[in-house]
Amino acid sequence: MSIDYQQYLSTTAMRLEPSGIRKFFDLAASMDDVISLGVGEPDFITPWNIREFAIEALRSGQTAYTANAGLLELRQEISNYLNRRFQVEYQPENQIIVTVGASQSLDLAFRAILNPGDEVLIIEPAFVSYAAIVTMAGGVPIRVETNADNGFKVTPDQLEEVITSKTKAILLCSPNNPTGTSLNKDELTAIAAVVEKHDLLVVSDEIYAELTYDQEFTSFASIPSMYERTILVNGFSKGFAMTGWRLGFLAAPRELISVMVKIYQYTTMCAPTMLQMGAIEALRNSSEQVEKMRQSYWRRRNFTVQSLNRIGLECHTPGGAFYVFPSIKKSGLTSEEFAQGLLQEEKVAVVPGNAFGASGEGYIRCSYAASIEQIEIAMNRIGRYMESLVRTKNT
Ligand code: PMP
Repeated sequence: MSIDYQQYLSTTAMRLEPSGIRKFFDLAASMDDVISLGVGEPDFITPWNIREFAIEALRSGQTAYTANAGLLELRQEISNYLNRRFQVEYQPENQIIVTVGASQSLDLAFRAILNPGDEVLIIEPAFVSYAAIVTMAGGVPIRVETNADNGFKVTPDQLEEVITSKTKAILLCSPNNPTGTSLNKDELTAIAAVVEKHDLLVVSDEIYAELTYDQEFTSFASIPSMYERTILVNGFSKGFAMTGWRLGFLAAPRELISVMVKIYQYTTMCAPTMLQMGAIEALRNSSEQVEKMRQSYWRRRNFTVQSLNRIGLECHTPGGAFYVFPSIKKSGLTSEEFAQGLLQEEKVAVVPGNAFGASGEGYIRCSYAASIEQIEIAMNRIGRYMESLVRTKNT
């Protein structure tokens, strides 16, 4: 008997859009000699001392569960780190949870605060998971579109326009994926005034905090009177080159953390013990390696921005992360057509901007977490592709 599985599936889950990023990865993976500027992860291997610590934890038999919120020793290090780097104070005992990647931090945060129908403002272009995570938690993602004219920065007026009595939180991401846009202290302070006026919470995704280039990173929780309203999300994936470790963390007021721990306890128990041991070493002894990686991204950012602008793909200089988001409007193609053509004709994989929301149409995301040699070849190929498009247009 053939079973109609549709009848069993959750309508919420079925309504989720497949990620526009995966589609391109799958296509690129099936081709040879592709240079990928498509992936959103560091091209570095995790520093050796961190790996060694995790290996030692396994060797010495640390294979049991930890506390739900994570090893207290690691939470202590996270607390020290947040204080040392970003001047925010969180108690390791009851204000921090070690999660399975920043992804799970976001999931826990929204599951803890949303009731059905609650609205969350998502600033687009945005990380592909945001709207889906909010939807799965029963919330309603409200998209706020930014544009290149002001460097993809959201303004307080834009937020005011969409806030309703159902708005519960704003999801901020600075530095941003996919635009690389980094908000400075004044810009965050202006947003804070709106948050306070409308009595909202902020989920602040600070996963790219270590990767800023032109100005100091400001944690949203350090903005006056925002500490009480902020759920801080961060982790090891990007700055520490530890994507595959799946380790992130949450820091927030006690009353919120206690509810999140409850959800975590029933769904996940804890993050992997031996990997949490490695993360302790990451926070204690890797600031030099993190800084070296940052400088390397910074050099690659400068090269990539200059190259794209030279080719004629107008590109603002992003303040952080490892992405650039150039306009492809000159080509006359949609971003999907552009990315598809570039992959097929020149074997360079990028992500079409519309994967990050409607306001990403007309742009592509290029990750510069690739070797400078690869970036150089990719830029030559993109240049050639643009020339061929212009030639075709003129004939
Ligand atoms: N937030 C943003 C903005 C990201 O770009 C990513 C990873 N691409 C994540 C969260 C998820 O990070 P993690 O790998 O730690 O789950």
